[in-house]
Amino acid sequence: MINIEKPESDKMIDTHIHADARTGEDFEKMYLSGIDVAITCAYYPYIIDNDSILLNHLNRILNYDTKRASQHGLELKVALGIHPTNTSVEGNTIYEQLYKWIESEKIIAIGEIGLEDLTESEYRIFKEQLDIAQETKTNVIIHTPRKNKSEVLSEILDILPQHISPEYVVIDHINSNVIEQVISSDYTLGLTVQPEKMDKYEAVKILDEYGFDKFLLNSDISNKASDPLSVPKTIRELKKQNFNQKDIDKIAYKNCKKFFNL
Ligand SMILES: [Zn+2]
Repeated sequence: MINIEKPESDKMIDTHIHADARTGEDFEKMYLSGIDVAITCAYYPYIIDNDSILLNHLNRILNYDTKRASQHGLELKVALGIHPTNTSVEGNTIYEQLYKWIESEKIIAIGEIGLEDLTESEYRIFKEQLDIAQETKTNVIIHTPRKNKSEVLSEILDILPQHISPEYVVIDHINSNVIEQVISSDYTLGLTVQPEKMDKYEAVKILDEYGFDKFLLNSDISNKASDPLSVPKTIRELKKQNFNQKDIDKIAYKNCKKFFNL
């Protein structure tokens, strides 16, 4: 639960970050800019071919980065899983842990998971995690890549109905180029405002055109080019352009609270 005493309209959640790749100074800036909660996701930016090394990375996020962020006021919720970049692992040890973390409510979602280069192991590990999510009624945060986004998204859209109900799924990093592929689906959609992905004006334009109900907003700050303040900057831009406060609240935090049941 968010228990910071602030007027409802000032609350903000960054729905997808990689806290393990960022500094305490970033967390402080985010907190001071009005972000109360961020959801940190699993992604190790180098090839890991051993389950126990990947498990160590996941435990670090859960047990260490959450504490680091809270020292600066930022509350982290955690999503763990096998990112498509890390699908050189075998996976079984991680799946066992996912069941335990879900059971003990240590994680709020499996994520981020998905496809990147469409390798055989990516497909296998993606489907396995979707099945675990469906079985345990757990949300999934699904990554779509920078390159070949439309092609990979089509693959993901083919796979999802065979494994999971749409109510559990957020498909992330949606932009203007692919929005038409997903807007009429029942999936929740993530908008990532990030220097090399999408600027705040493109996000505002998408929200203006397609409405605020289906979307979550995030910075996806990682070891790549990032802006820890992209969520507050987008929210302030919406205010500046005089969007309805009820709509702004949806994208600032209400949609996220509802989807993840926070
Ligand atoms: Zn990410």
